[in-house]
Amino acid sequence: MDLATLYDPLPYGPAPEDAQLARQWIESHGGTFGHFIDGKFTQPGGSPVFDCINPADKQVLAQVSQGTEEDVARAVASARKAQPDWQESSPHERAKVLYALARQVQKHARLFAVLETLDNGKPIRETRDLDVPLVARHFYHHAGWAQLMPARLPGCWPVGVCGQIIPWNFPLLMLAWKIAPAIAMGNTVVLKPAEFTPLTALLFAEICQVAEVPQGVVNVVTGDGDTGRLLVEHPDVDKIAFTGSTEVGRILRKATAGTRKRLSLELGGKSPFIVFEDADWDSAIEGIVDAIWFNQGQVCCAGSRLLVQESIEGRFCEKLRRRMDALRVGNPLDKSIDIGAIVAPVQLERIESLVKAGVEEGAVMYQPPGACPKEGWFYPPTLMTNVAPASTVAQIEIFGPVLVAMPFRTPKEAVELANNTVYGLAASVWTENLSLALDVAAQVKAGTVWINSTNLFDAASGFGGYKESGFGREGGFEGLLEYVIPPLAKAKPPKPHPVSPMGFTAQLDRTYKHYIGGKQARPDQGYSLEVKASQGERLGEVARGNRKDVRNAVESARKAHEGGKNQSSHLRAQVLYYLAENLSSRRDSIEKLIAATEGYGIRAAGEQVDETLKRLFDAAAWADKNDGAVHSTPFRGLTYTLNEPVGVIAVVCPPSPSFLPFVSLGAVAVALGNAVILVPSERGPIPAAEFVQVLEASDVMPGVWNVVTGLEGELAEVMAAHDDIDALWHFGSSESVVRCLELSAGNLKQTWAVPDCDYDWTDPNGALCREIVRRSVQVKNVWAPSGE
Ligand code: NAD
Repeated sequence: MDLATLYDPLPYGPAPEDAQLARQWIESHGGTFGHFIDGKFTQPGGSPVFDCINPADKQVLAQVSQGTEEDVARAVASARKAQPDWQESSPHERAKVLYALARQVQKHARLFAVLETLDNGKPIRETRDLDVPLVARHFYHHAGWAQLMPARLPGCWPVGVCGQIIPWNFPLLMLAWKIAPAIAMGNTVVLKPAEFTPLTALLFAEICQVAEVPQGVVNVVTGDGDTGRLLVEHPDVDKIAFTGSTEVGRILRKATAGTRKRLSLELGGKSPFIVFEDADWDSAIEGIVDAIWFNQGQVCCAGSRLLVQESIEGRFCEKLRRRMDALRVGNPLDKSIDIGAIVAPVQLERIESLVKAGVEEGAVMYQPPGACPKEGWFYPPTLMTNVAPASTVAQIEIFGPVLVAMPFRTPKEAVELANNTVYGLAASVWTENLSLALDVAAQVKAGTVWINSTNLFDAASGFGGYKESGFGREGGFEGLLEYVIPPLAKAKPPKPHPVSPMGFTAQLDRTYKHYIGGKQARPDQGYSLEVKASQGERLGEVARGNRKDVRNAVESARKAHEGGKNQSSHLRAQVLYYLAENLSSRRDSIEKLIAATEGYGIRAAGEQVDETLKRLFDAAAWADKNDGAVHSTPFRGLTYTLNEPVGVIAVVCPPSPSFLPFVSLGAVAVALGNAVILVPSERGPIPAAEFVQVLEASDVMPGVWNVVTGLEGELAEVMAAHDDIDALWHFGSSESVVRCLELSAGNLKQTWAVPDCDYDWTDPNGALCREIVRRSVQVKNVWAPSGE
């Protein structure tokens, strides 16, 4: 018998992890848990309880409490009470607490890992080797950010009390991603874990006591979506940070509209895994195992769409099927298991029904021989081929161990297919051609791109989505910005200006048109709005825009954005300097219009123009200076950040001042590669409408800067509901802002909503310009490991 034959039938032996200590920990709490409020566990029994079930054997592990309105109110009150002192504590004190939490996680690493596997059903290899080490790393990393807050975020202050709601797929890791940055920046939190997996959050609460986290800084209230809703609706919560489904994300967008609560959403995905014909096949196949069968495919960034070059599709998929045959599905506490249990029957049914729909639509399904265990909720690894790009399984997030494969011919087609989804969370690109890899990475619309790798995470590199995968980032410097308020200066009370309309004559009696696609455009319906000066006299007319005007502007902006992607930042800067030059030469007429609009003296109007010129220079300066970064992740190779333009941004300008915000917002957004549609102040649109002449004279690429005048409420609503607008910045009336935030839930566009805005647009400390810069880009992190 030769060696190969000897090894051939060698079966795996079981390598079970002992769960005794985890069960003892549950027993030490009597098997039933209250909430963790104000540094203490509440007595269970005050609220109804529900079962926590081990999905691998369907046995009840423990009982936890369903958070009621009263529980949520007590937790929020405790967080509110603790917040000022926590904020006032020195950064070093906060750093020490985060450090202690990191240490505690490490000291109890195995207990956390086993408990997580029992509660969630994911293999112990994953909880032990990935989840828990990443949790510890997150707290260490953020101990550093607490320490560096004054140096890196000067003048910023915490948001306040944060309601944090997390899903069941990475219960402890999602907790760390939420709690660590929040408390590092001086916020206090009320965290609601998912109903299926609350146990590690409760163990974490216990180590908060040991780590001497001050009472009320971290609170944990367990329960289902109803408890989550109560937290979202609580009036004394300043921010909601949510990770979960896009469906619930939409609900939260609507629920927080008009409440002034900040919101960050980490939502679903349907991430492409792109394999070119020159890829290292063996590595790519192992990558797929990691991408879609890690955590049973219940991963927001799972590489669930395999896009494979047509020339290799058949052979590659065959090799993949052989690899699938070797995957082991079974008891997640067994260390040699690849695929554990599905978290709950409802999730299993969802997977089954979506796969069934796929087969009915013509997909060919492959599942390896070998049965799944019967005692728990299991689903085998599944590959679906012959899948049409528009079919159910190619579009809907299955959130299970199901991979759908589709062929492509050229890199262009690969990018088109990759972007053919409402999501934009992650992507993985496999090729030995580095130039191709980097080019595709830049074109895929996703918050994270892995080159010849997949599912790499680190606290130093932010994570989050484009499009309907949500907004906001977790991890990295950009993740901190979700938990601080920048030092934006407030407007000073207006100075009493003597009104002197200064030689203001008949030449103003003109009708201003929209400016769309680089041309002045008549309003679709042929209506105009009369505009009055501050003193009530008629100043002129502007076009009254409608739905069709907005639609035309969006089409032009989209075309310009796509077409202008190769325009260099240097060129954009030149155009902005040129705008300043041309504004300067036309300042007399604009000054007069500002003076008449605002009721300023001509000198104050001149100051507004001077500030505007400075803003144009600021924007030109930022065009080539908003650099990304290379992160210090613990991997060989590069993890780098690209600050990519958001895309098409619609801006509803504040009522006043009439000119400076209009140019400031538009110029910075354009500097950073976006196309904009600006609605000037409804009350005083004429200075902005006059600026169109400056735009026309300044080589601005057609469609990059569009101006639509009209009634703020009407236009804003159309833009909020428009699915091809990527972001809405709304500085109008609170009534319109609330309505628009609700409407923006449609495509979950990014929003910057400041009703009744009182910013000092002269931006004395530069913070406003930095904030516009931040809002103008979305961060993409690219992971490019190197070496053998
Ligand atoms: P889910 O949206 O059903 O639930 C998430 C959390 O929200 C749970 O704690 C739940 O109790 C709570 N919840 C439900 N309804 C609520 C409501 N009306 N108000 C407030 N809270 C409510 O999602 P899930 O099934 O737990 O998780 C899977 C989803 O999470 C997937 O779509 C996945 O892609 C996504 N996810 C995203 C990321 C990311 O970083 N982008 C990470 C992990 C998971």
